[in-house]
Formats: sequence, C-alpha cells, structure tokens
Amino acid sequence: MTLRAQPKASHFIDGDYVEDEAGSLIESIYPATGEVIARLHAATPAIVEKAIASAKRAQPEWAAMSPTARGRILKRAADLIRERNRELSELETLDTGKPIQETIIADPTSGADSFEFFGGIAAAGLNGSYIPLGGDFAYTKRVPLGVCVGIGAWNYPQQIACWKGAPALAAGNAMVFKPSENTPLGALAIAEILHEAGLPKGLYNVIQGDRETGPLLVNHPDVAKVSLTGSVPTGRKVAAAAAGSLKHVTMELGGKSPLIVFDDADIDSAVGGAMLGNFYSTGQVCSNGTRVFVQRKIKAEFLKRLKARTEAIAIGDPMDEATQLGPMVSWAQRDKVLSYIAKGKAEGATLVTGGGIPNNVSGEGYYVQPTVFADVTDEMTIAREEIFGPVMCVLDFDDEAEVIARGNATEFGLSAGVFTSDLTRGHRVVDQLEAGTLWINTYNLCPVEIPFGGSKQSGFGRENSLAALEHYSELKTVYVGMGPVQAPY
Ligand code: NAD
Repeated sequence: MTLRAQPKASHFIDGDYVEDEAGSLIESIYPATGEVIARLHAATPAIVEKAIASAKRAQPEWAAMSPTARGRILKRAADLIRERNRELSELETLDTGKPIQETIIADPTSGADSFEFFGGIAAAGLNGSYIPLGGDFAYTKRVPLGVCVGIGAWNYPQQIACWKGAPALAAGNAMVFKPSENTPLGALAIAEILHEAGLPKGLYNVIQGDRETGPLLVNHPDVAKVSLTGSVPTGRKVAAAAAGSLKHVTMELGGKSPLIVFDDADIDSAVGGAMLGNFYSTGQVCSNGTRVFVQRKIKAEFLKRLKARTEAIAIGDPMDEATQLGPMVSWAQRDKVLSYIAKGKAEGATLVTGGGIPNNVSGEGYYVQPTVFADVTDEMTIAREEIFGPVMCVLDFDDEAEVIARGNATEFGLSAGVFTSDLTRGHRVVDQLEAGTLWINTYNLCPVEIPFGGSKQSGFGRENSLAALEHYSELKTVYVGMGPVQAPY
C-alpha cells in the first residue's frame, strides 16, 4: 500500500529529520477512509534527550539576538506557510479529516498569522520598565525561560504547533513540540518551514509520542515550561508533574461553554453562530458553545431554522471543496460521540435532527451526523460533559438571572457567548459569565490579536496576543545603587 503522507522520518531534531525505529509504532490514519497514510515511531528516551539537548544548546545564542532579527525569521516562516497554504491544508485534512473548505482558511493561515504577529511584536512586546527611586533606580527586563515544551491535541495540529511555537520563539526560547499521536504530521511540516525560513537548528524540535512520551518531557529537569492543549484529566496530570520541579505551565483544556440566545437576537445570526460553535471541525473545538440556551419565546422559530440549515450541511469527502462536514478524527472518538448521542436519547432529550451515521459516506470513515437535541435539561449527561463532536444541546430559559446562573453551573470556564440586540444586556451578561474568552453577537472567532484561554477547570495562562509573550518570559529586576553603600556596621 502506498503511504500518502509519509514524512522523511518521525522526528525533527536539530534542523533535520531523525528516526529511531525502536520507538513504538504510530500509524497515521486518514479518518475519511480508515486508510493508513503514514507510519511513524514514538520517541524513545534517547530521542527525547537528543531533542532537549539540542534545544538547550541552541537557545542562548537565539536569546542573545535582537528581537527584530528573531522576528524577521518568524515573519519569513509566515510568508512560506502562506505560499504553501494549499499543500499544508491538504496535509491537515489528511491528518485530521477536517474538510479542505475549512483547513484552507483556518489552519495553516492561522499559524501564519501567529508567526507574523509575534515576529512583528517581538521587538516592542519584550520591553522592560524604568523605575525611579530618588537617585537610585531600577529597571526590569523580560527574559526568556529557556527550553519550553508544547504538547498538542488533535483538533488543530498545525495551529497548535504555531500558537505555541511563535510566542515561545519570539521571546527567545527554544521549543520541543509533541503533537498528538492521532495527528503526527502537521507539526513536522511547520518545523521544516521554520528551518527553511532561517531558524537556527535546535530551536524548534518535533518529537512523536503519546501519553507515555509526554511525561518524559514534562519531568525533564532541563525544561522550564510546559504548554498543554488537551483534556482536563490530562491537564491535571501534566500540571501535577510540572509542579514537581516548579515549571511554568499554560493549560488550554476542555469546555462545555454556554451560548445564550435572547429573544431580541437576530435569529439567523444566532443560528449561524450556534452552528459554527457546534459543527465547525466536526464539533472538535474546545471553545464550542455546546449548551445553547434559547429564550422560550423564540424556541420554535430557532429550532425550525436550525433544523433546516443543519439538514442542508454537505457531509462527505473532506478533499471535496463543497464538503462542509468531515469525519471525526478517530474511530474511538466516533464511538465516544455515538455513545453520548445514545445517552441523550435515553435520558429524554428530543432529537431534532441527526443522531446517527450519515448514509452517503464510506463505511470505513469515522462519520457522525450533525446532531441537534432540544428540551435538554441541566442534569442530562450531554449537558454536563464535553462530547467533542457535532452534537448541539438546546436548552430553554426564561430570564436573564436564571440563564447566567445555569450558564455558570459547570466546572469548565473556557468560553461563552451571548446573542442579543440589547447592547447593555450583552455587556451586562458577559460580565457575569465565568469564562476566559467571550463573544457578543458572534462565536468562536479567535484572531491572534486577542488573548485566548480558560478559567476554572478549563485551564490557565493565555495564548495569542501580548499576553502569550508574558507567559513565555519572566521579569528580571535590576536595582542600581548610585551612591556609596550606607552600611550600619
Ligand atoms: P488529550 O488530553 O487526550 O491529549 C492531549 C495531548 O496530551 C496529547 O498529545 C497526548 O499524547 C498528551 N498526553 C496525554 N497524557 C499525557 C501525560 N500524562 N503527560 C503529558 N502528555 C500527555 O486530549 P485530546 O483528546 O488530544 O484533545 C481533546 C481535548 O483537548 C478536549 O478536551 C479539548 O477540549 C481540548 N482542547 C483544548 C483546547 C484549548 O485551547 N483550550 C484546544 C483544543 C483542544
């Protein structure tokens, strides 16, 4: 069988591809067909050591360069990513099964935005301050942390590799990145491009592996920071392991976010927002607004339009540009989603549409129909747990105070959204919702300029924006004495 997406080797270390066949086999599977498209190996402890040693060796010289010079390389990488958007998007589609219609506008391009943004602000974003002390003075410097580890989830492999790599490198760090074992391909392509753009070798290393490999990175004494994108249970393990050696941590974890639609909202816009916030990337988006609270007066109209638009979604071959919904990333994820759909039915939610496997696709692919449940109550499993698939739960509500309390009644706190034409209410409601990233009259837009991240069990730290540079650096304070030391002895 030909392997459609086989990289030159499993890992990218010190500016080149590296193989170690002693590592356990990772098969990369195209989710639309179940076909094995690449075979790679998880990193052995020797590979982990090699990656960290090379990053450690390269980092001081990189940190000593001017931020403008570092930024120039990152911006060149952004240009190369844009030039190769088509081929990178096809790779992302093979890696994840997400439709090319999406990957071509949302994946490599958002990675390029990240390198462009952090390349551009490296020089201005790392300034310190001058503190006058009446004769004496002090100043602060922002200094890199050293070797940073990035660990990715499988829903946005290229974007995550860039969102972690760009601020880390801009701030003068080196990065060792481990993609999800489900999507090993995209990060290797990003590493190749960075080096082609002139990044000195060793500064962005990619190693493959799974939950056995991650701890080797997190526990390593030469690692200063870990940034994880993953589930809450993994976040707890990684944060606990990082605490053992007091490493810096950023946690981008899961969610069960509320999306609240008041009866004065533009209904078509709210339906569009709810669909984007539940079906984009086949529902595999951490910030999705999976609890859609609809004010009772507009419930019938909202559901009518939602059902019609959901049933018109084009499901099929992800490489066909007309396809709007692809398969789940893996067989296991498909089974998990189907089991939640079964629970929704068993616990008494009303199935509005979907609820099964589409009949127009290959039986080997990991497809699930876009599914809408109505009459969902707060206690139902589908309203409490993260499903991470194309399953929207619609809940009814009557008044503002009630919906805020119910929206907040979750351990998660990643995102939230409000649709209303009352400007005052929009701001008043988001002010009271417990989440890290919130939207009014739109949903799930995450441009690089704005901070992104969660509160409560959804994590801490922020990606994107100037805030990310702060999370990849620390302050050094220097006190300067201008006169003789006044010692009492
Ligand atoms: P996961 O938690 O299973 O795995 C995430 C990564 O952690 C993988 O690379 C995995 O190999 C690694 N890992 C697992 N155990 C580890 C350990 N003990 N030590 C170190 N690394 C370990 O998550 P997933 O299934 O890949 O992704 C889906 C989850 O990610 C969902 O919960 C989703 O909400 C979340 N997510 C969050 C964001 C965000 O920005 N907040 C974005 C995308 C996905």
